[in-house]
Amino acid sequence: MDSLKICLVSAEVAPFAKTGGLADVSAALARHLHKKRHDVRLFMPLYRKVKGQVELEPVPELQDVPMRMGERTYWFSISTGKLPRSTQKVWFVRCPELFDREGIYTQDADEALRFALLSRAALETCQWTQWAPDIVHCNDWHTALMPLYLRTVYAWDKLFARTRTVLTIHNIGYQGVTGADRLKDLALENERRFLYQEDLNEGRVNFLKTGLLYAHALTTVSKTYAREIQGDEHGMGLQGLLRQRSDSLFGIVNGIDGEEWNPRKDPLIPAAFHARDLRGKEACKQALCERFGLAFDVRAPLFGIVSRLTVQKGLELLPDILPVLLRREDMRLVVLGSGDERYESYFKWLAGAFPKKVAFQAGFDNALAHQIEAGSDLFLMPSRYEPCGLNQMYSLRYGSVPIVRRTGGLADTVQPWDGANGTGTGFLFDEFKPEALQDAIQRALEVWRHEGAWARLVQNGMAQDFSWERQVDEYIALYTRLVPPR
Ligand code: ADP
Repeated sequence: MDSLKICLVSAEVAPFAKTGGLADVSAALARHLHKKRHDVRLFMPLYRKVKGQVELEPVPELQDVPMRMGERTYWFSISTGKLPRSTQKVWFVRCPELFDREGIYTQDADEALRFALLSRAALETCQWTQWAPDIVHCNDWHTALMPLYLRTVYAWDKLFARTRTVLTIHNIGYQGVTGADRLKDLALENERRFLYQEDLNEGRVNFLKTGLLYAHALTTVSKTYAREIQGDEHGMGLQGLLRQRSDSLFGIVNGIDGEEWNPRKDPLIPAAFHARDLRGKEACKQALCERFGLAFDVRAPLFGIVSRLTVQKGLELLPDILPVLLRREDMRLVVLGSGDERYESYFKWLAGAFPKKVAFQAGFDNALAHQIEAGSDLFLMPSRYEPCGLNQMYSLRYGSVPIVRRTGGLADTVQPWDGANGTGTGFLFDEFKPEALQDAIQRALEVWRHEGAWARLVQNGMAQDFSWERQVDEYIALYTRLVPPR
């Protein structure tokens, strides 16, 4: 097969800038496409926090490139830096005025413009270097205008004549809705006819929706989520459009980075372990308890949560059941998360009420995320919706049994435990109700009390293969189908 030129553009790339799964996926996809000898250019903004994390090499012909956005001209420059554990490079778009800010995302008035500039800078870099991409692969709302830009602003350039576009929806809950008065800044003032007229009439532009209209192919990060977003419950208003495009919508489940998340050689956990020797896991559990001043007892099951604290993650189900459960069961719970204040204050309260049983750490802490996966026996993910979810896969790999809601990627990656046959990897529940979650926890605790069955369950999970090596082939097959024959 010929090597493909793939222009991959993302607002987040791990480890440089990450708030969630998008960062992991874009880094892993680039790394594995590169490994399979495809020519990948991975673009992301040079946020303030990136500096100091990577040695930057300015690309001489791409310094202080002017870009007109409405009334204003912005200047961007490109520097490359190495993606860790790969010879793949990242192409950083430097535009201090837009990206040199405290966070990755902001509430600032020019938020849409920031990512429109990223999208256009990636395309203009292709032009300046005369590099004709076979595929432009954009991700989530931030870069979802790229297919439209190619059809309008850059339609004159033959360089892109054979370029095909893929838009991946990592989370349909974030659509990038901005005021139609911004069209000029986005360089789309003269392209109003291409936009969703109903939205325009109501004074809005929706980035993701625009991408859904113009990308040649759409993907999302699990088969179940691909089906769910075509329905009223999960489509977030885009279900009708997605149904119209269902022939071009594909679910490709995310892989996990098996190098970073490998209990055999994870430098971030206190003791290594593997499926046939779990003594290290016990040491991890003990260390986790000690770190947070929890009473350590091998026999007391330790539950872990690592999560963005948002409505999506289904944490509303917990207050109705946790205090009762914690009073009744000799169990432990360690929670790591950042996000909405109300969840943070709830977990703070819970840790205060059960100081020997519950610990909560607010914030983002990658090392602790690894330690929780390694030290916990069970992992809670009661998500309201979950496009793919990575944590349940990490937890399977680390021998922590997931308890998840049967939705999106959780449904595709966790198989229900079947005690009669000794098959399955975790516990699932359907209805978004505290009782349903409680029932799943109860079922899990029953198996916990049977050592042999528990060991089997843990082994089943640890034997799962979620490698990118396999998943990346699905993307390559899609790209190959899209590219016109020479
Ligand atoms: P989402 O993308 O919706 O946040 P995923 O499960 O797909 O959910 O991915 C979450 C990623 O972010 C995982 O790699 C997880 O370990 C990480 N993560 C989430 N919250 C935290 C946190 N507070 N500290 C460290 N890592 C976190």
